Amino acid sequence: MPLVARVVVENAAQSFDKIYSYRVPEGMPVRPGCRVTAPFGAGNRTRFGLAVAVEEEPDAAGLKPLATLVDPEPLLSDKLLSLVFWLRDNTFCTYFDAVKALLPPGIGVELEYTYELSKDAPAPEDPEERRVFDYLAGRGKPVREEALLAALGFERDAPVLRELCARGTLQKAQEVRRRVLDGKLVMVRLDGEIGELSDVRVKLTPKQKAVVELLLQVGEASLKEICYFAAVGKSVVDRLVSAGAARLFTREIYRSPYAEGPAREDAAAIVLTEEQNAAFERLCGLADSREARTALLYGVTGSGKTEVFLRTIRHVLDGGRGVIMMVPEISLTPQMIDRFRRYFGGRVAVLHSGLSMTERLDEWKRIKNGGASIVVGTRSAVFAPMENIGLIVIDEEQEGTYKSEMSPRYHARDVARFRAAQEGALLLLASATPSVESFHRAREGRYELLTLKNRYGAARLPDVAILDMAAQPLGAQSASLSEQLIAELQRNLDAGEQSILLLNRRGYNTLVKCAVCSTVATCPNCSVALTYHSANGHLMCHYCGYTARPDESCPTCGNKFRRFSGAGTQKVEQELCELFPDARVLRMDMDTTMARFSHEKHFSDILAGKYDIIIGTQMVAKGLDFPNVTLVGVLSADSALYAQDYRSFERAFSLFTQVVGRSGRAEKAGRAYIQTFTPENPVIALAAAQDYDGFYAEEIDSRRIHLYPPFCDMVGIGFSGLEYARTKEAARQFLAEFARRAKADYAGLPLRVLGPCESQIVKLAGKYRFRMAVKCRYDKRTRALLRGTADWYFSQPALRGVTLTVDPKYE
Ligand code: ADP
Ligand code: ZN
Repeated sequence: MPLVARVVVENAAQSFDKIYSYRVPEGMPVRPGCRVTAPFGAGNRTRFGLAVAVEEEPDAAGLKPLATLVDPEPLLSDKLLSLVFWLRDNTFCTYFDAVKALLPPGIGVELEYTYELSKDAPAPEDPEERRVFDYLAGRGKPVREEALLAALGFERDAPVLRELCARGTLQKAQEVRRRVLDGKLVMVRLDGEIGELSDVRVKLTPKQKAVVELLLQVGEASLKEICYFAAVGKSVVDRLVSAGAARLFTREIYRSPYAEGPAREDAAAIVLTEEQNAAFERLCGLADSREARTALLYGVTGSGKTEVFLRTIRHVLDGGRGVIMMVPEISLTPQMIDRFRRYFGGRVAVLHSGLSMTERLDEWKRIKNGGASIVVGTRSAVFAPMENIGLIVIDEEQEGTYKSEMSPRYHARDVARFRAAQEGALLLLASATPSVESFHRAREGRYELLTLKNRYGAARLPDVAILDMAAQPLGAQSASLSEQLIAELQRNLDAGEQSILLLNRRGYNTLVKCAVCSTVATCPNCSVALTYHSANGHLMCHYCGYTARPDESCPTCGNKFRRFSGAGTQKVEQELCELFPDARVLRMDMDTTMARFSHEKHFSDILAGKYDIIIGTQMVAKGLDFPNVTLVGVLSADSALYAQDYRSFERAFSLFTQVVGRSGRAEKAGRAYIQTFTPENPVIALAAAQDYDGFYAEEIDSRRIHLYPPFCDMVGIGFSGLEYARTKEAARQFLAEFARRAKADYAGLPLRVLGPCESQIVKLAGKYRFRMAVKCRYDKRTRALLRGTADWYFSQPALRGVTLTVDPKYE
């Protein structure tokens, strides 16, 4: 009986994202989980797809055949294929978006076309056609499409080529080419001698000039760095390259970034404390039960949570099953990986977006082939092709980085729960400040709650003071640093101890206004204020990357004078250098950590005592262990507290608790200062006291009263389009249809709709955005209602221009 493959195709718009059937050509060994190419759509152009099933079907005559089989062996197991379906149902992504999330980016392949003269084809009369003929005859072998087009100056699918193919003179063939993977960094340098460049330099645009000046100073730099420091887009560099003024080259980077080697230390050599041991034994019991269970390991920072799960991991590995270990940020992976490598040696694989494509692909294959039994990584590690999983650990489970903000919009915790259920594995969440939802579930008994009450050893929690910034004296030395904090920094410098300062705003000045009419400098593409960066002398949009010179005149009144205010990390760094000329100051934010492995470098330098004061965004707040840090300052607590979001208190509490916890982790006592204009806010006092239980008690009441998770689920529905009015209208129509369906077919379903209204940032990268929130129970029926309404929406031609996104666990 003929075989038929069910295939999901790449680049399917939501309106035609279906499973398509193709005939399997005789002898093609396609299996579910293999990628294929297949003719698609009216023009029958070939697309990539993934076979999700292969079945016998008596009548396959009317079906188109598959074109090629890309992978001889399936890339995805049956369990991972069912995860594809789960992702589509739960996060409203397309099939192929889900497939892509499960594959490493480097596994991409390209389709390539070649042209060749048919045997004994006669030379054509037409001069255009003759040119093609002569070129191919001269080459005497198949020529790649790109090469042919470039040599003859034709467009893709030019009429003359089509005509020649139709007449049989030419043959066009399709080839699947594996992309050559490069573990390389793109670098830029000037081409030729500077003297020779002088004539080029007079013709440069201001932006090109900025790039050239920068390259004259630094010699060479990565493309990413050039774009930032010269405040230009990549196209500016490209134009310099095509004009012959600059040159791109690649630099090889390590293929295996973390040193390999045998295990050096034995986790079992550590003697667990009584409460650690109780947690450990309970976790082993849960893992051995082979029932999919979730446990929450709740313990103050430094209580030994990591030691407990290292031991549990060992237990699971000894039982012959694999482990996925997730950490919230790339910056935290080096320390964790180091600890894991010490205990487990080469059995550890690493997956995160900081690796080059080659490295990720190598690690992915190693896991798939069973060459690694532990995967350490960030959010996407939850998709690791590991089989026979016994344990999934999510460290700092409350972190927002576990939620994907791009399609598929999944939360790693939910995916982990799905995989744990498939495998009968234990899901272990660990935190000093669990998410309110997880803690609620644990208190209700749905999660197993394990508590570590004490810090290990002699380490005490630091003393914390709250500083009212409104009470600072007039004429204070700094608007960002209180007099008290300045005095404490001096004390630490004198004592030779280190200090960490948290300021969650990068750049120099965060607000730039016209000195005459007070118009704020905003991005033309986004409804947000521009930030002034002293490193490149430009105003920058942190959302879309737009840059402008600060001396352009005010769009409202034409005036050139600007008033700069609102200190970011660059400004405070400068103030610190002026206040403490002898101090060694390190700034850490997205702008200083662009280069690969710069985190590692910074952290090892801090550990080695090369810096006295570290100022940075939240990347300095989390998870790291520096024994000589004895002072922590939160410069502006208010910006974190008052975001428009029901989770802002939870996030602020967690951030303050974590950063304060950086102080005094070893024998030396630590202290911390939180600067705020609203010292009466209870969240600050609770974080200062490291009182999670107190915070939880207040927060859960507020969630209950105002009906927020965990007392309901939230689904965010977003609309974005080029025109304000049309976008608003599309949102209105969605709501009307949603309400109609809910009333007609889903009576009794608990639903509460908020909006539609403008998104917090109404214009982003040139698109207007509206949003709607649905408080609901996110079960099968609610998803069916949402799916029905979304499918209706996608089928309306009038609404095509406005993109709809459905986002569960919306913030
Ligand atoms: P957490 O993950 O809860 O912040 P860690 O597991 O990192 O805590 O422990 C903090 C420090 O205390 C680490 O240096 C760790 O090695 C040490 N530690 C914790 N428990 C023990 C123990 N039972 N014996 C020896 N050292 C321990
Ligand atoms: Zn912008």
